[in-house]
Amino acid sequence: MGDKTISAGYAKLLELFTHEYFHAWWVKRVKPSVFIPYDLTHETYTNLLWVFEGFTSYYDALLTARSGATDTESYLKSLSETLNRHYLASAKNRQSLAESSFDAWIKYYKVRTNRSRSVTSYYDKGALVAMALDAFIRKESAGKHSLDDVLRYAWQQFKEVGKDYAGIDEEMMPELIFEATGIDVSEKIDRWVYGCEEPDYKRVLKTMGIDLTEEKLPIERDVLQATLSGTNVLKVSQLDEAGAAELAGLCVGDELLAIDSIRVTKSNLEKLLNRYRQAKTFSLHVFRNGLLKEFFLKPRKADVRKIKLSVNSGGRAFCRWLNR
Ligand SMILES: [Zn+2]
Repeated sequence: MGDKTISAGYAKLLELFTHEYFHAWWVKRVKPSVFIPYDLTHETYTNLLWVFEGFTSYYDALLTARSGATDTESYLKSLSETLNRHYLASAKNRQSLAESSFDAWIKYYKVRTNRSRSVTSYYDKGALVAMALDAFIRKESAGKHSLDDVLRYAWQQFKEVGKDYAGIDEEMMPELIFEATGIDVSEKIDRWVYGCEEPDYKRVLKTMGIDLTEEKLPIERDVLQATLSGTNVLKVSQLDEAGAAELAGLCVGDELLAIDSIRVTKSNLEKLLNRYRQAKTFSLHVFRNGLLKEFFLKPRKADVRKIKLSVNSGGRAFCRWLNR
């Protein structure tokens, strides 16, 4: 199966299966101590979803690729999607991973149109921090250890279910990683999990044998800082926080009708935006809940990026990472 090309949708489905299967070990058995015993009659708060959902999200795509069920290309696509989603989520600078985990009850699953802007995903950033910790452990131990050792060690420590079974406490994570690998990651966890700092993903990926480059953005992301979807009717499906479209007053769900009074379609969108990108302001007409509205937009250059990943020459680190 290794080199057979499979559709992106099927690759995603396989990763989802891996994710849920992985939970049999990592959440069903090894779990946060506050989940023991699990009381379903009230909300149970934990800061550890970055470990339990984040690590699981890291390993879902990685293990699917290691098994040979998905190929290198599918894996890099999945990883770059996680990075791009994370780059778009402006809340990453405001809400730490630990807070995002703790607030899951009141925020993550209360879906609002601006979720991507108000919540840091403990799935996405959790997976990226897992990768960064993995890279750090591999580098510091000169390839002797990896995050895999941490999970194996945790399994050994926590697999027995009995009356003394206690689960993982929040403060235990750096200690557990140190016992499994001899590498001290406490400072990294403080910065990446309890603070809002981001790992240097370019460096992290280099350790794993992957080059990170930036691609040109689609024009509406570049000029409006919004995502439009649909073919006949262009609808605003996402807005960057404090991006040009949001500052102009647009909302998710608005149907874009005209740019500077010229009817806009998917086929002339690029031409129109290119024409007006240097303008001081231009008008936008939209339908919102069936009402025609006019807004004035000041175009500005996007500060978000679109990243592309490729295996760097040699690729030995990448092969080691994927157990190939
Ligand atoms: Zn999960």
